[in-house]
Amino acid sequence: MFRRAKTWLIRAALLLVLLWVPNIVVSLTRDGPSVCRGSTSNGSLENGRRITVERAYRSNVRPYCWICAHLLRTYAHEKVVSVIALAYEDQIYDGSTADFVYGESGWPWGGSFKPHRTHQNGLSVDFMVPLKDGARFPTHLFNRFGYDEEFDSSGRGAAGEIDFHLIARHLDSLDKYARKLGGGIRRVILAPDLQDNLFATPAGAALRGKITFNTRQAWVRHDDHYHVDFDFPCEGT
Ligand SMILES: [Zn+2]
Repeated sequence: MFRRAKTWLIRAALLLVLLWVPNIVVSLTRDGPSVCRGSTSNGSLENGRRITVERAYRSNVRPYCWICAHLLRTYAHEKVVSVIALAYEDQIYDGSTADFVYGESGWPWGGSFKPHRTHQNGLSVDFMVPLKDGARFPTHLFNRFGYDEEFDSSGRGAAGEIDFHLIARHLDSLDKYARKLGGGIRRVILAPDLQDNLFATPAGAALRGKITFNTRQAWVRHDDHYHVDFDFPCEGT
């Protein structure tokens, strides 16, 4: 019995060690600045970087799925990665104790990224909706790491209530730093029936006319996350 437990323990340890390998290989083979090519729906990326959050902020900010991040699903253009880190700093300095969760972005090399239809050139990133009162956004295998959570048109769901003020503040920071780094936000996708709630907050009202939002329902209802397409110069566009 003990022997069997020992074997499983060794296997689990080996698996954990192996999980670090893909990221290490990617960082060792990176040989210059990030280069995006084409569009979000038909493009690629060279020298992508993994979304990382400074150690000091890790109690507030986390990836939707630890294993998926190790399997290379949270890579983006280096400027996008910088923007994300700076924007999270803003939220934390603002005293927010919310649970900020980032979702999928793309492969280190870009290209087709199923089940997403875009996310191909390192400029698309998903962010799980922050919840009110510091509620933890549930991310586990049985809700597809957050992507199966559901919220009604007022932003209420089994997980809690969406904090639209925080989404607005976050988008404002993302926009600010993207501009500072010579780019911007091309568009944000959020379920249209939830957008009214966002624009009803003071910070959200200020986003009108500044950031472009989808007007029609996207191919999947974006109620558990908002999708951001950044705008940085790419080759072949
Ligand atoms: Zn997306």
